[in-house]
Amino acid sequence: MNLVLLGPPGAGKGTQAARLREELRLPYLSTGDLLRRHRAKETALGLAAAEYMDQGQLVPDELIITMLMDAVNGPPRGFLLDGFPRTVVQAEALERSLDAAGSRLRAVVLVEVPDQVIVGRISGRLTCPYGHVYHAQVSPPVRAGVCDRDGETLVQRNDDQVETVRRRLSVYHESTAPLAAFYERHNVLVRVDGNQAPDDVFDAITAALGVTPANRA
Ligand code: AMP
Repeated sequence: MNLVLLGPPGAGKGTQAARLREELRLPYLSTGDLLRRHRAKETALGLAAAEYMDQGQLVPDELIITMLMDAVNGPPRGFLLDGFPRTVVQAEALERSLDAAGSRLRAVVLVEVPDQVIVGRISGRLTCPYGHVYHAQVSPPVRAGVCDRDGETLVQRNDDQVETVRRRLSVYHESTAPLAAFYERHNVLVRVDGNQAPDDVFDAITAALGVTPANRA
């Protein structure tokens, strides 16, 4: 099963991805997490990407596509993608790669949340280096500042500051939102209301995918 999670920053894609990867046992790839790891290691790609990320802009398509194809080491087979594709050029590259492997997308899940809700959500967000996400008020960790899962220190991402979040939202509407129409034409788009409790969002996604205990991957 090849799945893509689509939606604005702060829609809860990371939270849902963590549950879906457990439920469906799919390899999970987040281009944002990959980029943050490149930055932490100060690779050439990490250094090239840093400024775009901190300004809330998209990293150029060719860098992202190369990074992703390197990470999957050949055409992907069964995956959950979070944060990719974010442009029509990236979506077309993914289609070509899947076509070449004789594979296709099972679904693209669009998690929809209004802009005004996003800004409040992201400004309290805390993340660990492995992508586990908390919220200072809504879903705090057991020990302040420490990830419950792996004991790593939680930080606010540079690009989670309010001004940058607004820029990321406008980039989303301009470059990424058109992918909804792209995937609607391919008959794989599933829209889910992300403005509800995480459990309810998860139930809506699994129901839309037809995933039940009897037919889990
Ligand atoms: P995320 O963790 O998915 O919110 O990504 C954080 C930042 O990484 C984004 O604001 C972009 O600067 C960059 N980024 C992640 N994925 C992509 C992508 N598919 N295309 C371009 N830039 C990306």
